[in-house]
Amino acid sequence: MSITIVPKNQVSELVRKSFGVDGNCTRDRSIVDIQPPDKSPTAKLIFSLLTKANASIQIAFIDQTQQPDIVSSCYDSDYKAVFIRADVRYGFKEYKDKTGKYIEMPPIVLLYHELGHAKQDVVDGTFARLVAAGQTKDKEKGGLPEQTGGPTGNTNVKLEKRGKAIKMVEANSTLGGAGGYHVDYNNMRLHEYPICMELELPIRSTYKDIVVI
Ligand SMILES: [Zn+2]
Repeated sequence: MSITIVPKNQVSELVRKSFGVDGNCTRDRSIVDIQPPDKSPTAKLIFSLLTKANASIQIAFIDQTQQPDIVSSCYDSDYKAVFIRADVRYGFKEYKDKTGKYIEMPPIVLLYHELGHAKQDVVDGTFARLVAAGQTKDKEKGGLPEQTGGPTGNTNVKLEKRGKAIKMVEANSTLGGAGGYHVDYNNMRLHEYPICMELELPIRSTYKDIVVI
C-alpha cells in the first residue's frame, strides 16, 4: 500500500510503544532520505514491492536516545515499522581504506537491510518462520544447535510477540548468539549483499562484521 515516514513529533510515541523507552526524532525526513539508490536494482525492487504490498510500512528515524543499548535499528513486525538509529554510523569491520579508517556502510544500506526484513514479512511471508527457526535449538524446526550459545547461552525463546522477537534477534546476533541466523542471513543473501555489490561496496562476511565508527 505505501511506505511512509513517521513525522518527527510522532516518533517518540512509536519508540515508546515498541521499545518501552525514549527516543526522539529531531528533524523531519523526506522521500530523498529513503529513495533507493539509482545504482541498485535490488533496493529499487524492495521499495517497489513494499509500495505494492498489502500493508503500510512506516519508517521512524531516531536522532536521540538515552537508552542506546535498548533502542536499535530494527524492524518491528507488530507495528510494521522500521526504526533507524540515525545517530550511529557503521563500518565494515574487515575493510579499511588507505588511511586506515573503516569503510563506511552507508546509512541507506542499513535502511534497506531493515526494509529487507519488512519485505520478508509483508511480501515474502517468511519472516515469522525464520525468526522462530533462529530461536529454537530444535533441529527438526530448523534450529542450529551447534551454533547457538552466545556469551550468555541461547535458550529456547518463546515467541510471544514478533516485534519484540526481532529486536532480540538483532541483539543476540550482535552479541554473537545465533538467534537471528536464519532471518538475517536470508535478508543479507537476498537483499544486503546484492545491494552492496551493486553499489560497489564490500560485503560483511558474517552478521557481526560491522563496527560502530
Ligand atoms: Zn537484520
